[in-house]
Amino acid sequence: MKPIKIGIVGVGKIVRDQHLPALAGNGDFELVCAASRNASIDGIANFATIESMLEGVADLDAVSLCMPPQYRYDAARKALEAGKHVFMEKPPGATVREVEDLIDLAEQKGVSLFASWHSRYAPAVEAAKEFLAATRIRSARIVWKEDVRRWHPNQDWIWQAGGLGVFDPGINALSIATHILSPMYVTKAALQFPANKDAPVAAEIDFRTAQGTPVKMELDWLQTGPQSWDIHADTDAGEMVLSSGGAKLAINGEAVHEQPEREYPALYERFAQIIRDDHSDVDLAPLQHVADAFMLGRRIAVEPFYD
Ligand code: NAP
Repeated sequence: MKPIKIGIVGVGKIVRDQHLPALAGNGDFELVCAASRNASIDGIANFATIESMLEGVADLDAVSLCMPPQYRYDAARKALEAGKHVFMEKPPGATVREVEDLIDLAEQKGVSLFASWHSRYAPAVEAAKEFLAATRIRSARIVWKEDVRRWHPNQDWIWQAGGLGVFDPGINALSIATHILSPMYVTKAALQFPANKDAPVAAEIDFRTAQGTPVKMELDWLQTGPQSWDIHADTDAGEMVLSSGGAKLAINGEAVHEQPEREYPALYERFAQIIRDDHSDVDLAPLQHVADAFMLGRRIAVEPFYD
């Protein structure tokens, strides 16, 4: 089969860290162009805007949208209207409804839309899902605590409305939780907003599954020292800990699954597959939970944040 000609929009940290190596190692794709206002990629055609890229590369098949979420919808709409398959970085949009609109448009245009949730492809996630499916969960706790200064230096968009603040990493936890736990809903939330920012720096969210199982989530963006990206479950078959962002699984303290990370290669394999199979893959559950936490949550003002 001919490779899928793809262009990248919004060349920043995640493009250089993950998209370029993943695409270089995947024969299903040929990276032919990029659109970015202030950056370029060597060896391919570069444009300042998505409009000029779509006009300038007539045989383009697909685009990857890697700009901040507040700007994803307009770009996605343009690409879908031009008949391109669309890969959306997480989170797929700034609101739930705008992504639903894109799902409808992709269907009308007969192209594939992919909401990529990279953490779902972490190595131990499927093993955790299998373990939990075979037992009864009594309670679960999601602990996602990292140092924003280390992972997101100088990213203004992340602190602006729609940038999600601590939910930018937190939505990765939710993308795993919604894959491995029963459907759940938010019952209570408290969000801490620095006095000088429009997005939260910490949050506590309570969920309950339809069966009444309590799930607690703790998010903190000021964690120095060891970083925590863990999901704990107390089950009839023992204590499960899915740690390191989904890379490691332990049951009753014993490591049962640990393999090298290959989230982005797996995401592009999945994107090629849905294009071949002529369908879309857009799960809105993680984004909906974040929206619900903002809707239901108490807002607590905390001290200003400076980089
Ligand atoms: P970033 O380094 O800030 O890069 C995003 C790029 O988007 C910028 O370099 C910018 O390039 C472009 N852009 C277009 N319109 C923009 C606007 N109005 N304001 C700011 N930038 C704009 O961000 P990133 O870390 O790569 O994150 C991008 C997306 O990937 C986010 O949705 C994030 O959640 C997701 N993601 C990030 C990571 C990570 O570790 N960083 C991991 C997984 C997923 P130009 O100025 O050249 O246009």
